[in-house]
Amino acid sequence: MTTSSPVSVISNRLHCIDDAVPLTLSVIIPFYNEASVITECHERLIAVLNTIKGHCEIIYVDDGSTDGSRQLVEQFSEDNVSLRYIGLSRNFGKEAAMSAGLEYAQGSAVILLDADLQDPPELIPSMLDKWQEGYDVVNMQRIKRQGETWVKRFSAKCFYKVLNALSDIDVPSNVGDFRLLSREVVLHINQMPERNRYMKGIFSWPGFNQTTLPFVRDARFSGETKWNYVKLFGLAVDGITSFSIKPLRIATILGCAIALWAFIYGMVIIIKTMIFSEVVSGYPSMMVVQLALGGIQLLCMGVMGEYIGRIFIEAKHRPLYLIQTVIDQPAVQAAQIYEKSA
Ligand code: UDP
Ligand code: MG
Repeated sequence: MTTSSPVSVISNRLHCIDDAVPLTLSVIIPFYNEASVITECHERLIAVLNTIKGHCEIIYVDDGSTDGSRQLVEQFSEDNVSLRYIGLSRNFGKEAAMSAGLEYAQGSAVILLDADLQDPPELIPSMLDKWQEGYDVVNMQRIKRQGETWVKRFSAKCFYKVLNALSDIDVPSNVGDFRLLSREVVLHINQMPERNRYMKGIFSWPGFNQTTLPFVRDARFSGETKWNYVKLFGLAVDGITSFSIKPLRIATILGCAIALWAFIYGMVIIIKTMIFSEVVSGYPSMMVVQLALGGIQLLCMGVMGEYIGRIFIEAKHRPLYLIQTVIDQPAVQAAQIYEKSA
């Protein structure tokens, strides 16, 4: 883990603007079974990085791939760009893989990029321009999402609306993990201890100077998305519960409102029966009330359960990921391989 202080980082960037110290950029690419695209991704990225003044590194984080992606990455070797391969011991999920990359990144600016070429590497120079203007976070906002169904676009829109209404931080809509972070922000993120890593929230939480650049998100170059609607629903619940306790407050308010309503309605029934001698009626209304209350109670218990489950996971303090292999390919120099023996 890097230990330099945020202060030295700020001065580093100022030097970069003056061109006194070469720019150092880390590009983190988490990947899981991307053999069909990883070589194309590498070539396109290298073509861009070779045009950038200063030293760059690419950190490939292999999230437990089993399709030969690792062998492809191991063969990469560059004259001007340092390469680092970090192999996790199994599939921990993209959020953990990105966290591993952030721990290892050395650059003054750090960019996260998907391996499937949905995030065009050609946009990196304009992101760096913003960073050199003094921004700490450059969010890349999708103005068009090529190759995605209207159901996915609509559900994503609803999710951002609900998340921002419920959470205490401002998560920009349609901004994925593709973004630039200054070293200072990366240091703060690395100090965030939570196991439940909803990265879009974690990236927004530190604040600092943020700006947003629009871009058209391409369709996947090849291969298939690793997400399905069940996983996306889980991610949405993670996003809300990691950054807000408002759902619990809503449950409390709902409970108070229903109790008040039950009291008033009870009084109405008593008055009707005692004063107007009305016969108690209404099997259908009884059923509706019972079922509605049962449903609301189960929902509130579910919300509580979500939070308790997260306390359970946090309390165990298990590592976020386990690293099995680190392969360093410094620019031009021979590879140094550190591998845990079986
Ligand atoms: N990914 C990963 N671990 C996983 C799932 C995905 O590292 O468990 C990587 C994947 O290889 C890709 C990036 O995360 O580089 C984005 O994944 P995907 O394209 O499936 O997500 P989508 O773009 O559909 O949101
Ligand atoms: Mg993708």
